[in-house]
Amino acid sequence: MIYPADKKISIVIPSHNEEKNISYLIEQLRETLSPTGYAYELIFVDDGSRDNTLNELKINAELHSNVFYVELSRNFGKDYALKAGIAMANGNAVITMDADLQHPPQLILKMLKLWENGYDIVYTYREGENPHGKGYQKVTSKLFYKGLNMLSDIKMENGTADFRLIDEKVVKQLKLIDEYEIFFRGIIKWAGYKQIGVPYIPSKRHTGEASYSFSKLVKLAVGSIVAFSARPLYIVSLIGLFFSTLAILYIPYVLVSYFLGYAVSGWASIIATIAFFGGLQLLVMSVIGVYVGKIFMQSKHRPHYIIRSSNVVIVDNDFIRI
Ligand code: UDP
Ligand code: MG
Repeated sequence: MIYPADKKISIVIPSHNEEKNISYLIEQLRETLSPTGYAYELIFVDDGSRDNTLNELKINAELHSNVFYVELSRNFGKDYALKAGIAMANGNAVITMDADLQHPPQLILKMLKLWENGYDIVYTYREGENPHGKGYQKVTSKLFYKGLNMLSDIKMENGTADFRLIDEKVVKQLKLIDEYEIFFRGIIKWAGYKQIGVPYIPSKRHTGEASYSFSKLVKLAVGSIVAFSARPLYIVSLIGLFFSTLAILYIPYVLVSYFLGYAVSGWASIIATIAFFGGLQLLVMSVIGVYVGKIFMQSKHRPHYIIRSSNVVIVDNDFIRI
């Protein structure tokens, strides 16, 4: 019989300007996890916070021997912060969650049960609409998942969260992925294995402000769709094909008109045609440009994040505190 104490759970928490949430989250996680008997560690990734987050982490790491932190050299974005944390995690299962307590810690118990029942990945998705989102976010979030599901080969529930449990064998594979602009929610679906989704109702942010601006969300949305599909390229080439066929059919009409002497002043139609095709070409080129940009960034093989400091080094798959 394997007891929970023989298994270790790593919890990875990307944190950007979360000074007032860190201690509270740790307390909540301790209350939730201690009774389970599992050994566990909390790995916080300070993703370029400008507030006191790092200091809070250092204080807590002194207080609790299972609290670790990784300070990134600047703000790399949540998915890279997740990647940095997962790289350090060596538990039998890894759980990722937000630092702002929007992901209810109690749900971890349900995740652990499902994991013990043989699931390799237990992911969560928001039940219904986001009650705490801004008005426009309800629309954009729906559009994003619709667009992603339509344009790419993965299918995701609306409101899929970065709150999930991943078995160590999946983690091992995830660590091998060297993808620029990695989008974990998509990668998890793409990975396969035995997965199950659990709906949850997000809590209100404990304190502070969500750090995603509208422009960041647009970049994330475009990046994620492009990361999972070349379908936009096919779609624009189909549109291109359709209109060039129309143009080819139009040429005989122009020639006949010319020879019959009907070729009268066609200023409006010429301008309209030029403007339309000019716009269409720009659209097609910009879609191609997005993909070329991706190739360019990937081809540089830069590290995906840089660690400025940490209270942990890994030697032979073991944590050593420094
Ligand atoms: N986060 C991060 N880097 C960023 C933005 C956010 O590590 O550049 C973290 C943040 O601290 C939180 C989680 O990602 O733990 C979710 O961020 P947030 O609450 O701002 O977004 P939302 O709740 O809207 O998804
Ligand atoms: Mg949040």
